[in-house]
Amino acid sequence: MTMSPLGPSTLAVHAGAPSPRIEGSAVTPIFQGSVFEHTGATEYSAIRYPRLSNLPSHRSVCAKLAALEGTEAALVTASGMAAITTAVFAVMAGGGHLLAQNTLYGGTFTFLRDVFKDIGFTYDLIDPTDPSSWEGKLRDDTLAIYTEAVGNPNLVVADHTAVVDFAQEHGLVSMIDSTFASPVNFNPAAVGYDIVLHSATKYLNGHSDLAAGVIAASEEWIDKIQPRLTHLGGTMDPHSCFLLERGIKTLVLRVERQNANALAIAEHLEGNPAIDRVHYPGLESHKGHTIAKELFRGFGGMVTFEIKGDGAAAAAFIDRLRLPIHAPSLGGVESLVTRPVTTSHLAMTTDERAAAGMTENMVRMSVGIEDVADLIADIDQALAG
Ligand SMILES: *Cc1c(COP(=O)(O)O)cnc(C)c1O
Repeated sequence: MTMSPLGPSTLAVHAGAPSPRIEGSAVTPIFQGSVFEHTGATEYSAIRYPRLSNLPSHRSVCAKLAALEGTEAALVTASGMAAITTAVFAVMAGGGHLLAQNTLYGGTFTFLRDVFKDIGFTYDLIDPTDPSSWEGKLRDDTLAIYTEAVGNPNLVVADHTAVVDFAQEHGLVSMIDSTFASPVNFNPAAVGYDIVLHSATKYLNGHSDLAAGVIAASEEWIDKIQPRLTHLGGTMDPHSCFLLERGIKTLVLRVERQNANALAIAEHLEGNPAIDRVHYPGLESHKGHTIAKELFRGFGGMVTFEIKGDGAAAAAFIDRLRLPIHAPSLGGVESLVTRPVTTSHLAMTTDERAAAGMTENMVRMSVGIEDVADLIADIDQALAG
């Protein structure tokens, strides 16, 4: 009997489970060992060792992630930045030029700005919403184009179809950080992206208790990236594999609730006299709405809004909130709220932040899975002061 392709909720629960089950266990046990008996391996990569990402703990969570992203293979890493830096290093090995979107996660931006020059790589930033401007930034040695599914913190949506077409036309590797979308809302490989990256610290794990990253791609790319990960050493430890696998099982339920909560909050805030502007791809007023509607199954759990007034007004609003935790990061079950200029993008200069569209009065909310009526009531009391 051939089964029709399984849906994402089924894959999140079942995909990658060891077969046969290990000692009958419904969950993949934690293979905490770092030493395994030599059983005749004739290749280095077949020697069982945690840093080689080849314990049963790695195999099951990697297979689950590949199934969810619709790629042939996947790797897990010790953090999102380990996934990003390892994959970029593998793609750019030998030196070359990268085109990257101008609204990047702060850590990725400072990696390009501060580390690329030390390792002989170069980059230029592009406006991901303006494909006509990209060709002018191409160089003979351009190797790759790098975007984010939804940009941080303005929730800019790149013209992803144009990115993939541009990459194919010019022989570039297309890479995307899909953390904000999660595989529930978007599968970048399905539109043609070569390498999909995640900070699994966020939605994939979803419980604010783990640092983790993911690289999902074809077998061919994973075979090239895996030795880099082995050498650079940003491998995931077995206990983290277990936590990530457990977290992913509820991914679809969590993200669907977060999508619904965030949309309700964005709609509630839009037009509120205490708010200058709401940034959410699910709103028709958002510049990326048309592309988001076409490509995404949901608009995500991140809402950014600008409080009327200055940075102090935004800080006072945050202080008055009772439910969301005042904290950077995102993607967990609990709502979080932060001012990006004071946290995620602190390492950027004022000019760099302005160029990425960030303002002092901007508040970014990672909407959790709470009852949305409670979140809205809390926001309203905090706005009323
Ligand atoms: C958090 C984050 C990262 C970095 O991930 P870590 O797990 O903190 O290393 C990269 N990209 C995006 C979009 C993120 O939100």
